[in-house]
Amino acid sequence: MSSIIQLLPDHVANQIAAGEVVQRPASVVKELLENAVDAQATDIKLIIKDAGKSLVQVIDNGKGMSVTDARLCFARHATSKIRHAEDLFSLHTKGFRGEALASIAAIAHMEMKTKQDQDELGTHIVIEGSKFVSQEVAVLPKGTSFSVKNLFFNIPARRNFLKSDTVEFRHVMDEFQRVALAHPNIHFSFYHNGSEMFNLPATTLRQRIVGVFAGKTNEKLVPVTEETEIVKVQGFVSKPEFAKKSRGEQFFFVNDRFIKSGYLHHAVMAAYDGILKDGLQPSYFLYLQVPANTIDINIHPTKTEIKFDDEQALYAILRAAIKHSLGQFNVAPILDFDRDANLDTPYHYKDLEGETPTIQVDSTFNPFEMSEMPKKQMASASSGGNSYSYKKVEPTASWESLYVGLKNDTEDIVSHTFENEAVTASLFNDNEVEQAVYKTYQIHKKYIVSPIKSGMVIVDQQRAHQRILYEQFLLNMTVNQAASQQLLFPLNLFFSATEMELIRELQQSLVTTGFVFEESTQDHVVISGIPVHITESEVSIVIEQLISDLQDGVPENNYSQNDTIAKSMAKSLAVKTGSYLTEKEQDNLVNGLFACKDPNISPFNKPTFITMRVEDIDKKFAL
Ligand code: ADP
Ligand code: MG
Repeated sequence: MSSIIQLLPDHVANQIAAGEVVQRPASVVKELLENAVDAQATDIKLIIKDAGKSLVQVIDNGKGMSVTDARLCFARHATSKIRHAEDLFSLHTKGFRGEALASIAAIAHMEMKTKQDQDELGTHIVIEGSKFVSQEVAVLPKGTSFSVKNLFFNIPARRNFLKSDTVEFRHVMDEFQRVALAHPNIHFSFYHNGSEMFNLPATTLRQRIVGVFAGKTNEKLVPVTEETEIVKVQGFVSKPEFAKKSRGEQFFFVNDRFIKSGYLHHAVMAAYDGILKDGLQPSYFLYLQVPANTIDINIHPTKTEIKFDDEQALYAILRAAIKHSLGQFNVAPILDFDRDANLDTPYHYKDLEGETPTIQVDSTFNPFEMSEMPKKQMASASSGGNSYSYKKVEPTASWESLYVGLKNDTEDIVSHTFENEAVTASLFNDNEVEQAVYKTYQIHKKYIVSPIKSGMVIVDQQRAHQRILYEQFLLNMTVNQAASQQLLFPLNLFFSATEMELIRELQQSLVTTGFVFEESTQDHVVISGIPVHITESEVSIVIEQLISDLQDGVPENNYSQNDTIAKSMAKSLAVKTGSYLTEKEQDNLVNGLFACKDPNISPFNKPTFITMRVEDIDKKFAL
């Protein structure tokens, strides 16, 4: 039999290699940005169209290439960064494999313009699917510009595999942010479909982080520094009270290279042990410098994992450094925030639509008599409206006013007029026995206890208030015309580009709660009106909570958008466990709860109160 083995032609080998290096537009962005950084550029511009699917262009003012190098850089294994295998142990550049440009050129239309400082003229090369189309001498500024068009034009299967523009854009954004955060001393700008996403002048590390994430980032950061023989740690972690549910802003850089490390992440989390509630994530931006020969960087081109010589020591140092910083900056533990939300259960308020709700009460009804019913039955009992239904009800304004300022001890509490006296009566008054003797007691700044006809009720203050606020917000959004208070000085709030995207998607629903948006741009919104039951200082808390609640995406229909917003705002604004409540506030809370449509459960499906019957108490004493 004749021999059958052949060497693959270069363009085929390059296409195969491209499969590893280039998965999506973001991979091209990463390679081109890193090349520009390696070329010692001080100004790097990224321009993309259609999330990078039609165009990725990177323009730098770095050292450029000679005519020969300009041609050679597209060859496989062509690199100026290492010469010997030992060089791998003293790497100071991002690239070293000499594969990226060859790979990208194999699967796209590529154009390069480059000129070195000392040269009069530069080189302009066009290459498509590994074939050189043209090479010309050109008048150019110092530096290099690569543009990559029609990615995967010759591999339709790969092209079809690309995700929506939104998803691909997010990947590009991630790569851009990683490089920008790793090099605060370089001026980066980023344009998508003609609009400027970022313009980040060279600055300090702290300012760069603030530039990338905008918002209130600066307030959140606590510096971390540590220097030992094996590692130098620098950077910032967030104060625990700014912890979020998502893991969005967590970055490790080792020798200026973004890496992922579950082990080091664990070290950070260990430093927060005891001061962060389960499930919450701090932000961190940690920069480690280690001797180049103590890490093994010789890994898969697109992988971000890394191997350290002495991982255990790094773990201990990192944990101690962060703990020390958190302690030094006197960062106080956060309050118990109820975040175990079951956000998917929509609240059934449809039947309210179109009518002015008032509460009609069956005064013989006592919900506590059902306290032994299974929960499901209870829920359906109240929403089925057999004895406790919404029909003709007073305008909400009166019971709404009961809770305004509830969480603010110093604020004057509006005196409560019970629109729903019958409810109160049925719950707390036993006409024959203890007329008007019901009283509330707050225990452990957490529960409100009160005697009732059948025994006693214990209300969870935080959950109860969440329920009340949640129903108020929904009512305002769906039935009432949401009232808005005009701000004397409009609020200017800054957000990251991704966050702004979310806000824009929700803007319409937010307006129905009473927000008035005067302006919304790439990185900020100007708010000139806010819902009546929010104070100015609460606005950013509410919006940040909302953004964090929406990490899994914005619900599609109005109904669940409203529901999500109402839940999120109720969560942010509800009085927390640990807050002292005056007697009047306790009253308002308890009465407000039982005026709710679904008083039994919080918007997150947790019980809001329990009851103990006298017989149950008797039994305990009988032991
Ligand atoms: P690597 O970065 O691994 O060396 P690449 O294929 O990314 O491989 O690039 C090949 C070579 O082309 C680099 O080693 C560098 O010499 C040169 N090069 C690439 N991009 C630039 C740039 N923006 N400015 C100057 N030289 C560049
Ligand atoms: Mg490279």
